[in-house]
Order: sequence, then structure tokens, then C-alpha cells
Amino acid sequence: MRLNWRRSSRAEDQLEKWFLDRYQEHVLAGDTAPPGPHPDEGFLRDLARKSKRIGLSDPRIEHVVNCQRCMSRLLELRQEVKVRRRKVALAVASASCLVIIAVILLIARGWFQKQPPANNMAVVVRTVNLWDAGTLRGTQPGTLQSVSLPAAMVRVTVILPRFSPAGQYLVAVTRSQNGEGLLAEGQAVSATSGDQERLSVDLNLRSARAGEYFLSTTHEQDQASYYYPLQIR
Ligand SMILES: [Zn+2]
Repeated sequence: MRLNWRRSSRAEDQLEKWFLDRYQEHVLAGDTAPPGPHPDEGFLRDLARKSKRIGLSDPRIEHVVNCQRCMSRLLELRQEVKVRRRKVALAVASASCLVIIAVILLIARGWFQKQPPANNMAVVVRTVNLWDAGTLRGTQPGTLQSVSLPAAMVRVTVILPRFSPAGQYLVAVTRSQNGEGLLAEGQAVSATSGDQERLSVDLNLRSARAGEYFLSTTHEQDQASYYYPLQIR
């Protein structure tokens, strides 16, 4: 479309040059008596826009290339047409720029939204003390200590319940207490501190929505999982 416009614009420039050449020829020849009456403004406008309705054999064209008054009006109208077309082209270019900027902004916004907020990038350190915690083993009911963690990258130090054996543990955050809906997990070997067993794992809870979950610990040899109600805020 743009190519067509350019091509037609070049053709119009050639036509304009043709008019000027004819006019110059007549003036140089001292031929100053234009044939017939002055054509109306509408005809000159059509000519300025290079309307296809006008054929070059039209006798009014012969008049225009001989008439100083019509020729100068034609050149004025040509100038107006060019200015108008330049404005339209500029408006189209500006609109295109705005669309491109809008698309870039939308993409950038989407990209930034996908990035976790800066405060969630940091590792939050929390200690979960299960020393006196009751546990859920399977579906066994009991009085449970509720644990609370933020929706962030959390380095959790777990103080394991009394009488927990030393060794490697898997710590997991799940939606249900049968281990389904795994959100995050980490493994660590416990360290003895006094009579307590402690371990530290990194849990990525950045994508977690606030709500009720379960934190579980599973000893590598025991293979039984202990579930503790967990609140993610
Ligand atoms: Zn005239």
C-alpha cells in the first residue's frame, strides 16, 4: 500500500514536471493566448490530485499549460495536496509509533509482573519449632501445632519433634495431608544440638497462595511422613 502510494507520488511528480515543461515551452514560444475559457476550480483540483477522470487529451489541459493564471493556481493546489498527504503520512507514522510503544509497554508490563516482587527475591529465614508438636501420621487425628510461613523463598530451620532420630529428612509443603499437591520440598541431614535434632532446608513458596497447607517431614529410613498444619500468609 505504501509502495503504491510512493509509486503514484513519483508518477504525479513526473506529471507536474510535464505540465511545467509544456507551460515553459509555450511561454518561451511567446504563446500567451490560452485557448478557450479558464476551467473551473473543480477541474484544477482534480488535476492537482491527478484524478483518473481527466485524460491528457482534455482540451482544458491545453488551456492550463498555456495560461499563467491557471498554471499558478494548479501549482498552489499541488502544494496543498502534497502538504495534506505529508500530514496524513505523518499521522499514520505517529499512530504506528503509538501502537508499537503500547505493545512494548504491554509486553514490558507483563514481563515485570511475571518477575516476583523484589522483597520476595530475598531468602526469608524462619525457624519452625516442632519440639512439642503433635503430629498427623496418616489420618490420625491429634492436637496440632500450626506452623506459619510467608509466601517467599524461605530458609526453614526445623527443630524436629522430641525423640526424632538423626539422619536425612525430606521436608515438603503439600496441599493435603496425604502428600498430594506438592508445592515445595527440600532435603537435609539433621544436626544434633543438645538433645534436639535440627535441619535446614530452602523451600520456594514464592508462587504459593495464602491458605492452609501441610508441612511434612519424612525420615530417609522411616519413610513415614509426619504432617503439620501449615498456614502460608
Ligand atoms: Zn486559464
